[in-house]
Amino acid sequence: MDWIRGHTIGRGSSAAVSAAKSILSGEVFAVKSVELSKSQLLQKEQKILSQLSSPYVVRYMGYDVTKEKDKLMFNVRMEYMPDGTLSDEIRKQSGRMNERLIGYYTKQMVQGLDYLHSRGIAHCDIKGQNILLGESGAKIADFGCARWIHPAEPIGGTPMFMAPEVARGAEQGCAADIWGLGCTIIEMATGGSPWTNVTNAASLLYKIAFSEQSPEIPKFLSLQATDFLNKCLTRDPKERWTAKQLLKHPFLEESNLNSTSIQHFATSSPTSILDQDIWNSVEESESTTLQTVSSPLQRVRELGSNSSELERIWNDDERWITIRSSSSE
Ligand code: ATP
Repeated sequence: MDWIRGHTIGRGSSAAVSAAKSILSGEVFAVKSVELSKSQLLQKEQKILSQLSSPYVVRYMGYDVTKEKDKLMFNVRMEYMPDGTLSDEIRKQSGRMNERLIGYYTKQMVQGLDYLHSRGIAHCDIKGQNILLGESGAKIADFGCARWIHPAEPIGGTPMFMAPEVARGAEQGCAADIWGLGCTIIEMATGGSPWTNVTNAASLLYKIAFSEQSPEIPKFLSLQATDFLNKCLTRDPKERWTAKQLLKHPFLEESNLNSTSIQHFATSSPTSILDQDIWNSVEESESTTLQTVSSPLQRVRELGSNSSELERIWNDDERWITIRSSSSE
């Protein structure tokens, strides 16, 4: 092992992410790890991430297998993003991000999505929690649900950010990422969920799948931002704008903030990893186990007779559950 594991930065449903440092170069990076015997999903993520290289996607740095406390661990190394997730930033801005800052992050997300989609990859779980922030702004991360676009692939993602065609179980392609982007913009503007007045997973999935509605667009947004959101949150995936089209939308053309001027808008970064005594810290953060469940289509079909399990999942973690089809587990 030519690197040292530091403290745990985050935990998701599939793996734990730690800070790490190269013994040779002293370079700091992030490492996403899971026991080798349970690493099928992370290996799939590694395969996708290893083929990507874009300023708008978290940079892949390699993988390895280590033996720690008698356990074999599968590790994916990637660049360390010091400023946390977009959701953290939204919270720091008290849930009301300035529209210029929204435009700045949105443009980077659309550039990242355009890059992925032009390579035939759908991320399938676009949300604030999966966008990481650093010096150069926002980058797309967590490719745990990502897939090469192929109709036979199982579907997954986070219900609150799920596109209608995905909730119905019909298809999950690049257009669903654009819907997730729209939901993330609402998250930035309001600090809240894209869907309000839904109290359980069953009614949420029904509403997304079968109602005529899209999430409500905040009234205080400018006309350009509102129009941009309408293009993202068009229910028919064929009518929804693509990342390439969105890049030409006036809302993004006007968001030409650079990363220096962004400092005036964004809150100050959390303490840099280099300032923290991370290498002495062995403290593990509280495990936040997220649920993995069957496909949304299956869920919708079961709702009439078996909603108690969905209620339990909903109440456990109302916003951040990630669905992965059992066949990809
Ligand atoms: P999910 O349940 O959303 O699928 P996951 O198990 O796939 O999660 P990630 O979302 O990749 O895990 O990472 C979990 C958390 O770790 C992130 O929310 C973030 O806080 C942190 N994290 C992940 N990658 C990095 C990175 N490169 N730099 C800094 N922090 C990171």
